[in-house]
Amino acid sequence: MKKIIIVGAGVAGLSAGIYAFQSGFDVTIFEQHTIPGGNCTSWKRKGYFFEGGLHWLTGSSKKTPLYNAWKNVGALDDNTKVFLKDPFFTYYYCDKKICLYRDPDKLNKHLLEVSPEDEKAINSLCKDIKRFAKVNMPVQDIKGIKTVNKNKMPFSDLLSFLKIIPKMSSYNKISCFEYSQRFKHPAIRGLVNSVVGENLSALAIFFTLGCLASGDGGYLEGGSLKMAHNMAKRFTDLGGEIKYSSKVDKVLVENGKATGVVANGQVTIADAVIVTADTVNATIKLFDKPLHEPWMEKMRKNVKYFANTFVCIGVETDLSDLPQNMAFPLEKSVSVGGENSYTFEVNNYATFKGYAPDGCTALTVIFMGDTYEYWHKKKQSGEYEAEKEKIVNMVIKLLEQKIPKTAGKIAVTNVATPLTYERYCGTSHGSWMTLVEKGQKMITYPSKSENIKNLYFAGQRIQPPGGLPVALDTGRKAVQYLCKDTDTIFQGKM
Ligand SMILES: Cc1cc2nc3c(=O)[nH]c(=O)nc-3n(C[C@H](O)[C@H](O)[C@H](O)COP(=O)(O)OP(=O)(O)OC[C@H]3O[C@@H](n4cnc5c(N)ncnc54)[C@H](O)[C@@H]3O)c2cc1C
Repeated sequence: MKKIIIVGAGVAGLSAGIYAFQSGFDVTIFEQHTIPGGNCTSWKRKGYFFEGGLHWLTGSSKKTPLYNAWKNVGALDDNTKVFLKDPFFTYYYCDKKICLYRDPDKLNKHLLEVSPEDEKAINSLCKDIKRFAKVNMPVQDIKGIKTVNKNKMPFSDLLSFLKIIPKMSSYNKISCFEYSQRFKHPAIRGLVNSVVGENLSALAIFFTLGCLASGDGGYLEGGSLKMAHNMAKRFTDLGGEIKYSSKVDKVLVENGKATGVVANGQVTIADAVIVTADTVNATIKLFDKPLHEPWMEKMRKNVKYFANTFVCIGVETDLSDLPQNMAFPLEKSVSVGGENSYTFEVNNYATFKGYAPDGCTALTVIFMGDTYEYWHKKKQSGEYEAEKEKIVNMVIKLLEQKIPKTAGKIAVTNVATPLTYERYCGTSHGSWMTLVEKGQKMITYPSKSENIKNLYFAGQRIQPPGGLPVALDTGRKAVQYLCKDTDTIFQGKM
């Protein structure tokens, strides 16, 4: 049996590990942290449980092809409780509450009540959401792979996809902000800008809202950490080994072939290595010399990071009467990590059991932007902790203004900066997704090295914008390349 080493026990690494084991390889995963999951994680502070990863999962609906892949890797099963947040979020504007409903017809009616003068733009938005709702993310096999379960895109899915191609092309030409300007009402502009953020290509709005409208994009009971532990359990139940606290310092290459890794000063030999640590970092740092293959250079040149500031707040009050996600426009912008925010968005976990002591609530707030350099400078100048405290105080003040019930009730605060994510996950810029701006092509980078044999890559960077489905799919794909190169039949139910 061929021995495979995987670098990283994030979702991509666990996915690769499971598919490789199912296909008959002997697999060991080296993970630098003490737990599985990478960016798919959550943490506890003084009785409060903060969801630090998964907000909505593409493929959580049984109707999608991806569901079976998530099931195969143990992330969920038929009994997993999936929460479909609806409205997906609520935008507070003056005395109005504008709701982003999943159902496009309900959304259409609601938005027309808010702004009849935007009838044309609203109708067009909701019509296109319906078009995108018919499109599923496919689970595809690579060319020439021998597999026990062939995956073919159903003809109806192919047809739905063909129908949105012209829309994809036109929405990809503009940013979310530019798209929002098609609406006259400031509240609808604000709502549209809050779906995925202002700077992304407007296409992201339609893929997101289409996914939500189709009944997909749920939150799994237990959140990120449970999902990661479920996948790790599936892997170890199959017989795989995860070596925790094992940071890989070097991938060994001899005579143009990957031959193993060095971790904690020890050499481990293997027949192939799959690297799932952030590809941008890994191709530079994990080899004797940085790798300069054209696709790696292109990836490094094109990459734009989501490297956000994440604030966790535990409040000693029950906020279950408020929406699960709330966005408040700010009269005056706030600066976090050197980026200006004009909206204050709060995730409210009051309705989830076990996320906070009885009668209390766990809240999280994400400030978007690539804030890595800013935080890095603060660390170097010794102002890092003081800056985090400043941001916590600002968030508490905003909470008191927008949700007066929280005044004087703050029990726990915790800030994760890109430096935190960099420390725990080893990602470039502490980033957990890639920003795809207007006009950028949806590139899929190769899952294998062109110059070094037996060396494969998977993870969020291989297919921008990344995210959990990409991690899952690229882990699966890397194993398909491995199977093809070793003339092995690819197994796994999906
Ligand atoms: C706040 C937040 C919200 C998010 N919301 C969503 C969402 O709603 N939906 C969605 O789909 N996605 C979401 N994501 C993104 C998603 O979590 C990530 O894109 C995904 O988890 C990336 O998985 P990965 O396996 O590619 O990489 P990673 O998670 O980065 O995993 C890489 C693993 O490799 C390990 N590693 C790195 N270097 C080494 C080394 N040298 N040796 C050994 N191990 C190493 C790391 O410790 C890590 O465990 C969110 C992320 C965050 C942080």
